[in-house]
Amino acid sequence: MARIPIDIRTGTIKKERIIGIDLGTTNSLVAYMHGDNPAIIANKNTKERLVPSIVYFDENFNAIVGSSAREFLSRFPDRTIYSVKRLMGKAFADVRDELRHLPYRISEAESTSVCKIEISNGKETRLFTPIEISAMILKELKRWADDYFEEPVTKAVITVPAYFNDAQRQATKDAGKLAGLDVLRILNEPTAASLAYGLDKKKNGLIAVYDLGGGTFDISILKLEDGIFDVLSTNGDTHLGGDDIDLALMKHLAIEIQAQFGLDPFRNAQIAQRLRLECERAKRDLSEREETEIHFDVCGKPFNRTLSRHEFEKVIAPVVERTKAPCLKALKDAGVTTSEIDEVVLVGGSTRTPFVKRFVSELFGGKKPHDELNPDEVVALGAAVQAGVLSGDADDILLLDITPLSLGIETVGGVFVPIIPRNSKVPIKVAQEFTTSVDNQTGIDIHVLQGERELAQDNRSLAKFTLKPIPPLPAGMPRILVTFALDANGILTVSAKDQRSGKEQSIEVKPTYGLTDEEVEKMLLAGFEHAQEDVEKRLLIEAQVEANALIAATEKSIERQREIFESLPIEEREAIRTVVAELKSVVTGTDRKLIAEVTEKLNQVTTHFAQEAMNAAVARALERRKVDEVA
Ligand code: AMP
Repeated sequence: MARIPIDIRTGTIKKERIIGIDLGTTNSLVAYMHGDNPAIIANKNTKERLVPSIVYFDENFNAIVGSSAREFLSRFPDRTIYSVKRLMGKAFADVRDELRHLPYRISEAESTSVCKIEISNGKETRLFTPIEISAMILKELKRWADDYFEEPVTKAVITVPAYFNDAQRQATKDAGKLAGLDVLRILNEPTAASLAYGLDKKKNGLIAVYDLGGGTFDISILKLEDGIFDVLSTNGDTHLGGDDIDLALMKHLAIEIQAQFGLDPFRNAQIAQRLRLECERAKRDLSEREETEIHFDVCGKPFNRTLSRHEFEKVIAPVVERTKAPCLKALKDAGVTTSEIDEVVLVGGSTRTPFVKRFVSELFGGKKPHDELNPDEVVALGAAVQAGVLSGDADDILLLDITPLSLGIETVGGVFVPIIPRNSKVPIKVAQEFTTSVDNQTGIDIHVLQGERELAQDNRSLAKFTLKPIPPLPAGMPRILVTFALDANGILTVSAKDQRSGKEQSIEVKPTYGLTDEEVEKMLLAGFEHAQEDVEKRLLIEAQVEANALIAATEKSIERQREIFESLPIEEREAIRTVVAELKSVVTGTDRKLIAEVTEKLNQVTTHFAQEAMNAAVARALERRKVDEVA
């Protein structure tokens, strides 16, 4: 079998450098494949491993991204943008509920179009879309990668929550584009986490991915079948995470502080912020040890006390308990029970808390969840694994993907027949039988195309080959089985087999080579725009093909069955000749209905002739049998 991976633009296959990016609500990370293992790319100078997903705009609208921006959160809350991921792909009308959680302003001007963030320096107000803000974060990650590789990186895989809809995924892709990255794939975060743990190697099983971050909780149930991940269900809480754990501890300590100092820390934003930081630190500390010391300064007076892990767990239990219902709902939606879950994967910084780990383990029937990798980094590492697959670093991993455009062949009259429709899950294999349209064909041309248009000429040509020799037979008699098999790496194998002779030929192409996202979009749009006229054209061609086939069949019968034809009443013969002439005159026109009408008329006037011809053929066959029997 010939293997022809064609890069339409260059004619070569190049191993590319592709990075994996976790564009998170709180933090974002970039990773790459270092040999056989994924690795996080740290900032070359500061050695930081993650970029806080925060963008601060100074009074001249210059953007500062990451940890330097975090410092402005409390000083300039209306100019320091965080949690922008929550706004991706949404209109103002969709984010209204979100607003009370955000200190910055969202423009109310156009409630149905993409929401925009208002940044004001007191004199001037500028609008930024969530895509633009995300692009700034991605640019920072790209810069880290460029510095690391000492050359620009232009291709990336970016992860998104499994529940992201098309608009949110598209917005993420657009942000990548704006940051100068060609986003080769948008990968589901739970799939990425499973890949980081190499779970795809197990080939089959059910996986629960429990993701408790700073401000969001997601549970996903994945099915792994033949190494392919499928998201069976997702659930969660968009406002539940480490922040709520911190808040629970703050409230617990605030009661004591109030009793001791007569001051409610929540009434003073600065004190509350300091208490929050201290609680977060204590929480992290308690992930490592049984006890921690709380030191907190209340208006110059010290508040000191010891906090045990036991006490902390009692305080946070109600928060962690809130993840239970979404998990049960996700299991129910997936139609599986906890005992059927084979693997549990922990994602998100909050799963470092030992209580959370125990809680998850108990929830999933005592199974020990995967926590070997850093839960903050696991999604980015998985994105790097996927990036490695795409760049050819690893080739034994199968991933679920869908075909962006239909794949098919050209048939008689130049009509495009899709064999693998767009949005099909890969890998996929589809076979369809075709035949010849002309008598005695000794070869059949297979023209492989991609696109959404009805006519072959309007679609993208991927490959051509000819199946030959095939035994010459009357039109319509050969049975050619055409099989399209698209594997998980996007390689399409097209084979054509003559069912009678067994002659088979095939070709391999990579339909996505040389095809940019913009081109895919353009091709999809063209499909929608021309849908109506394309269908008309196709129906006309089909009517013409049918008419021509009937004319050819009638003329052939008149010639071959001359005796029978001559035995027909004169007016019947005249009628057949007249209608054949009439059909010939209309077939080249564009009046599809007229062509169909005259075709039907020819069918009717030839019915009797066809019956007579059939009777004669049957009589001849019987005669031959009698002769054979006698012999
Ligand atoms: P993520 O959104 O996945 O980056 O998770 C951030 C959350 O994880 C924040 O709420 C952090 O306070 C929390 N976190 C980070 N480290 C730890 C730790 N060692 N123990 C408990 N929580 C942590």
